[in-house]
Amino acid sequence: MEGVTVVDHPLVARHLSVLRDRATPSGVFRQRLSEAAMLIGYEALRDLRVERVDVDTPLETTAGARLADDIVVIAILRAGLGMVDGFLGLMPEARVGHLGMYRDEQQLSPVGYYESVPEHGPEAEVVLVDPMLATGGSAASALRRLKERGARRLRFICLVAAPEGLEAVRVQHPEVPIFCAAVDDRLDERGYIRPGLGDAGDRLYGTD
Ligand code: URA
Repeated sequence: MEGVTVVDHPLVARHLSVLRDRATPSGVFRQRLSEAAMLIGYEALRDLRVERVDVDTPLETTAGARLADDIVVIAILRAGLGMVDGFLGLMPEARVGHLGMYRDEQQLSPVGYYESVPEHGPEAEVVLVDPMLATGGSAASALRRLKERGARRLRFICLVAAPEGLEAVRVQHPEVPIFCAAVDDRLDERGYIRPGLGDAGDRLYGTD
């Protein structure tokens, strides 16, 4: 699908298998999700803008690079938290925001309950993270809110996407690139991605 990149890499695939396995305990799940996020992020951020800097090596001055733009990582609570450390490993200078959204289980629609987003200019690279793109409701609503707050350069990064969620986000935000590790088969009647990995928040934090 246009605008969707599936990061197809053996190092990501092996993390994803462990994450899918129902026997994986939450401590391992947290670690693997963080590492998978870092690998997906590495690919998803390859077009970040850099600016030239002079670097003094012990021998002479040479051309170097540094990130040109402010980077803001926004986690959709709670499962998005599981991807933040991976991104901070890549870019320790990034600032982090949080959008709290829960899913109304009747309507399967997102309800916002918390918002903490660093102030940034229109040039900032705003990276929205949530491991599961299911109906697309939370991601589309979060992207709308970030645009209202002034974000102009957005990308959305998840681990597993349902075709229905990809379609919904692409229709509402066609200019926002989406990156994931896998596109699964479908959503079930309870809104879970199949085969998926279950509720990512519960698996991260040992709740059920
Ligand atoms: N959220 C999850 O954590 N898992 C799903 O399968 C769907 C939404």
